[in-house]
Amino acid sequence: MASSPSQVPVGVDPSRPSIARIYDGFLGGKDHYEVDRMVMRKINEAVPEAVDIARGNRGFLNRACRFLAGQTTVAQYLDCGSGLPTAENTHQIVQRANPEAMVVYVDNDPVVLAHGRALLEENDFVHMTEADIFEPSEVLGNEVVRRHLDFSEPLVLLHVGTLHHYEGDGAADIMRAYIDALPSGSYVVFSHFFDPEVPELTEVAKRIENILVNGPMGAGRFRTHAEIMAMLDGLELIKPNALSEPGLAVCDEWWPDGPRLAPLSLAARCIVGAVGRKP
Ligand code: SAM
Repeated sequence: MASSPSQVPVGVDPSRPSIARIYDGFLGGKDHYEVDRMVMRKINEAVPEAVDIARGNRGFLNRACRFLAGQTTVAQYLDCGSGLPTAENTHQIVQRANPEAMVVYVDNDPVVLAHGRALLEENDFVHMTEADIFEPSEVLGNEVVRRHLDFSEPLVLLHVGTLHHYEGDGAADIMRAYIDALPSGSYVVFSHFFDPEVPELTEVAKRIENILVNGPMGAGRFRTHAEIMAMLDGLELIKPNALSEPGLAVCDEWWPDGPRLAPLSLAARCIVGAVGRKP
């Protein structure tokens, strides 16, 4: 059942919509309030297939984690803006390959922190902490992050579905600070709302952006290929599928699990992901 204000955890303002709850609602989760459903309805009215953006993003996160846990020896993960616990969480995916892989989740949404601490911290190798992910020094200096992750050994940094909620011009500087702090051999898993600069698709992106930016959340930028690549500067991006050159891919097309029987919706084409290695 969807949460009602009477079930609101301490510290949560049920009159303000939350990115984490809305995204989780699109993924089928139940921890949303009327104020979140209002935004979801507006998005659905503007772009009925908007749900494909959330699903494409989460599928990418899952496949990228499975790839890194299965094919590299990196055993520590810093998941920035981790979101509400859902069907498959980062630690469940990577600990299937390595039960001692260390995962630190970071978020600043009180519902995410409450549910995350209750549901995600299920063994000694999973920790949840609060920090502003748009302030890299706050995350990198965070006591829980420092205690459990060793920055002299390669890490996986996840910034998946996060920086499009950053409004300013400094998104590339934020990622630069994170990438600079990673030791050589580390990986970055990254996704972002995408303006494909194709009129038909840009129009879809703008419809969603208008609701997010002009609504009560004031956040949700669809950035161009050049703007997103600037955030991944200094990384060697891996090929997103057998036929493509290294680089960004529509999330659903990043090493999909199998053939696709139906074409992707226009909305699904408005989110891209990449995995990069720090040389
Ligand atoms: N990374 C998850 C995924 O891709 O499935 C969740 C993405 S969700 C769209 C964005 C998450 O970033 C939310 O959980 C939200 O609370 C978190 N977030 C947004 N701004 C943040 C900030 N300034 N500091 C910490 N977390 C933030």
